[in-house]
Amino acid sequence: MTVAYLGLGANLGDARQTLKDAVVCLAQQHTIAVLAKSSFYRTAPIDAGGDDYFNCVVKLETTLPVRHLLALCHRIEHQFGRERPFRNAPRTLDLDILLYGDHCIDEPDLIVPHPRLTERAFALVPLVEIDAAIVIPQHGRADALLAAVASQRIEKMKSPCQCPILGALAGKNTESSGGGCR
Ligand code: AMP
Repeated sequence: MTVAYLGLGANLGDARQTLKDAVVCLAQQHTIAVLAKSSFYRTAPIDAGGDDYFNCVVKLETTLPVRHLLALCHRIEHQFGRERPFRNAPRTLDLDILLYGDHCIDEPDLIVPHPRLTERAFALVPLVEIDAAIVIPQHGRADALLAAVASQRIEKMKSPCQCPILGALAGKNTESSGGGCR
């Protein structure tokens, strides 16, 4: 079992609902146990146009090797209608592997810790909300990096997701969620 952190983002359609459904979808996977979920945050697009993003971070435990986890992320993005017409295009759902245990991977199609994790408030802030003392391999404590991203607009949503994922889906009960994989 490996503890991993995924960053979720969306800025097309009902982005907030998409994030809720995506968290439920992750929790429904038999290879994944969702351990914690951050609040939802509204954030300004960076290096891109379009509407504001909604973001959150999910902490999970998984039996999946990292490449299988990446393939699952791509599959779920696809299920949620993700298209890639151009770099940084608006997106119905983006799933990034932020951390996978204490692994450091540097391959053409997979970099862990995620290469932009340390530069983006939309990833760092929810990560630190879940685990205040978390250490990013090769970078040190995440909370020490927050000052450097303080100029990026990020607003914590007042009413965090009420979806009952951690309780109702502990037994992978897919019928009680009202959301999940499409
Ligand atoms: P994006 O447009 O942000 O969804 O980027 C997707 C591409 O980034 C995919 O082709 C992945 O193979 C690649 N990638 C590299 N490292 C990661 C990572 N840690 N998590 C997710 N995607 C990654």
